[in-house]
Amino acid sequence: MPLYNLSIHEAHDLLSRGEISSLELTKATLGRIDEVDGKLRSFVTVTRELALAQAQQADERIKAGDHAPLTGIPVLIKDNMCTKGTKTTCSSKMLENFVPPYDAAVVEKLNAQGMVMVGKGNMDEFAMGSSTENSAFYPTHNPWDLERVPGGSSGGATTAVAAGEAVYALGSDTGGSIRQPAGFCSVVGLKPTYGRVSRYGLVAFASSLDQIGPVTRDVTDCALVLNAIAGHDPRDSTSVDQPVPDYTKSLIPDLKGLRIGVPEEYFVEGMESGVEQVVRQAVGKLGELGAEVDWGVSLPNTPAALACYYIIAPSEAMANLARYDGVKYGFSAREAENMWDAMEKTRQYGFGPEVKRRIMLGTYALSAGYYEAYYLKAQKVRTLITREFADAFARCDVLVTPTSPTVPFRIGERVDDPMQMYLADVCTLPVNIAGIPGISVPAGFVDGLPVGMQILGKPFSEETLLRVACAYEQATDWGQRRPGV
Ligand code: GLN
Repeated sequence: MPLYNLSIHEAHDLLSRGEISSLELTKATLGRIDEVDGKLRSFVTVTRELALAQAQQADERIKAGDHAPLTGIPVLIKDNMCTKGTKTTCSSKMLENFVPPYDAAVVEKLNAQGMVMVGKGNMDEFAMGSSTENSAFYPTHNPWDLERVPGGSSGGATTAVAAGEAVYALGSDTGGSIRQPAGFCSVVGLKPTYGRVSRYGLVAFASSLDQIGPVTRDVTDCALVLNAIAGHDPRDSTSVDQPVPDYTKSLIPDLKGLRIGVPEEYFVEGMESGVEQVVRQAVGKLGELGAEVDWGVSLPNTPAALACYYIIAPSEAMANLARYDGVKYGFSAREAENMWDAMEKTRQYGFGPEVKRRIMLGTYALSAGYYEAYYLKAQKVRTLITREFADAFARCDVLVTPTSPTVPFRIGERVDDPMQMYLADVCTLPVNIAGIPGISVPAGFVDGLPVGMQILGKPFSEETLLRVACAYEQATDWGQRRPGV
């Protein structure tokens, strides 16, 4: 197997035994980027020099006996997490030349382990989208079929991990942006419980929904990355002060006594029959592995989640994006008559069409006379959805659903129809509304295109999700297949 296709734990073992160096692994990964990124476009920035320097440092550190699980392993960071000295663009013209003066908390944590960052990942502009086509620079292509989207908004992260351009990645998930592209690219993607991982230094989209999480080739790697990034941070007032267990301890492939619920509402109208079949088979497998499966779970408020999300997320986004006024940082239009004109021109040029749409939706939903009818109503629905999940988790340990209703769609197919694009996250966004954790694992293929299975649990039940994901992974070989790009 080429070095660039190793998992974190495989690479770690080889590094420990001195059979490879971080420099070799990093060079193999950079070589792979040279080979395929012209086709995939996973990266906004490739940080070649930085990666080589960090690899050398990592090798010295390993020699000195200071070897953490992620030391010397190449990683891609989605381009909405601040990296000191390296451009952080959010795939937006607004931040095209923005170089942050500080590191995000997750980047600090990876640095503490001796990370090797090979670059910053392409994404939908400000993480708004489900296909990475909303990048202001260029779309990313799915390594399983270059004519198709990788999903989004963390599309660059999932294509890089699937195709060997990074051993693992960090993505962000506001309504599905880690899990949906993970499903579309056949890799593992976890959205942790809201508050599990610090958002300090993550460019805010919808602050009550955003969460950072791992994108990896297997479930063991997912646990290792979660170990590294989880934990309380006083700089993020919504991060929760709760001990971080060793998540690798939950990788026990045994489902005996575990109660799994399958909510019927997630098999939505318009779902592709091939996808439904794959997911039902995957649930059957969990039953064979010893879990008790309840096919009759109902979460009747699920159909309201999409509308609820598309009021709350744009409302928060509209407030968060008000800071891009061309004054303190980011793009600034200079040819202007006065301050107001400058601000208008800055935002007109700096933001793409989807971002503008969200700002308008949010402004409308929060405006006098509409606030009660839209925003307040959405908050009430949010409470109902959260309670409904809590009730379900009183009866089941986890819920299992499809990650998406379809396989990856064609590039260009949905760009002119926002509603069709929004529907790509219909199975993932209720999870953010309720703040619970969710993981997507490779569950099979339909005509060569990946299908993901989503596993959900109550707040801070990441250990249970990893246990189920691990058991499923060991009983199948879907996750071992690599795209032939
Ligand atoms: N597709 C959803 C949106 O566009 C979710 C994106 C995300 O999770 N960042 O808002």
